[in-house]
Amino acid sequence: MPPPVFRFAPSPNGYLHLGHACSALLNFDLARAAGGRFLLRIEDIDATRCRPEFEAAIYQDLGWLGLTWETPVRRQSEHFDAYREAVEKLRASGLIYPSFESRTEIARLVAQQQSAALWPHDPDGAPLYPGDAKSLSPEERKRLISSGVPYALRLDMTAACAQAKDLGWTELGEGLDGERGAVTARPEDWGDVILARKETPTSYHLSVVIDDALQGVTDVVRGSDLFWSTSVHRLLQSLLGLPQPLYRHHPLMTDASGQKLSKSTGAMALRELRAAGATPADIRERVQLP
Ligand code: GLU
Repeated sequence: MPPPVFRFAPSPNGYLHLGHACSALLNFDLARAAGGRFLLRIEDIDATRCRPEFEAAIYQDLGWLGLTWETPVRRQSEHFDAYREAVEKLRASGLIYPSFESRTEIARLVAQQQSAALWPHDPDGAPLYPGDAKSLSPEERKRLISSGVPYALRLDMTAACAQAKDLGWTELGEGLDGERGAVTARPEDWGDVILARKETPTSYHLSVVIDDALQGVTDVVRGSDLFWSTSVHRLLQSLLGLPQPLYRHHPLMTDASGQKLSKSTGAMALRELRAAGATPADIRERVQLP
């Protein structure tokens, strides 16, 4: 049996905090305990938010924590062709269509619905796509695209679910409501998700699935905020003929008021804790890892 493969996949759009340390250390420890491999992946598809100094800080902070990882590190921004190829495959199966509404227009379309207050939202809290771009004629699509307006490439969720039925995964950790063991995927909860945009030929969901497959990841260990994203990941794996990893979602680190740690809620960065005299052992203790 080849050794299991774990990965920590941060986005360099801010400094790492205790929540990241928890995820990185857990992946590293599990890989070690299983005689497996540990990979680091830089999820930098969003050129407007990712910065080289944050990436440099990731290497520095993880090194300080005592982690080692295989090189070269995969940086998603260097692999747009792989993601384009996957989008093309889905498009050839008739599962992708372009939509042209901005976020503001989407909010307006939702507000116009008779049942606006009951309009469904995805697990991340965004309203499901309310537009009718799926029924635009090929000529109209061509005309809009060549006019230069921004667009998003969406997955036709109804058609996709018809092609990939009865999906699920093995959860070794726990979802936000304590789900564990054999979990049934609910990709339809996400509506027609965006898989790529005019200016970025991929999305979080698509690149994570492609990379986990290309890197041979067998065990996805990450925070439980991504638990229901796994539904979309399982759907894409099925549509693209990719292997299914095991999943282990871990509880999120929270602050004193029970809020998920994040830069926006003022979580202290690892580098600030280090500057204030914390040691790697202190960090392990704070994230409750031996
Ligand atoms: N890049 C994602 C994040 O920073 C994690 C992706 C994953 O582990 O699937 O939240």
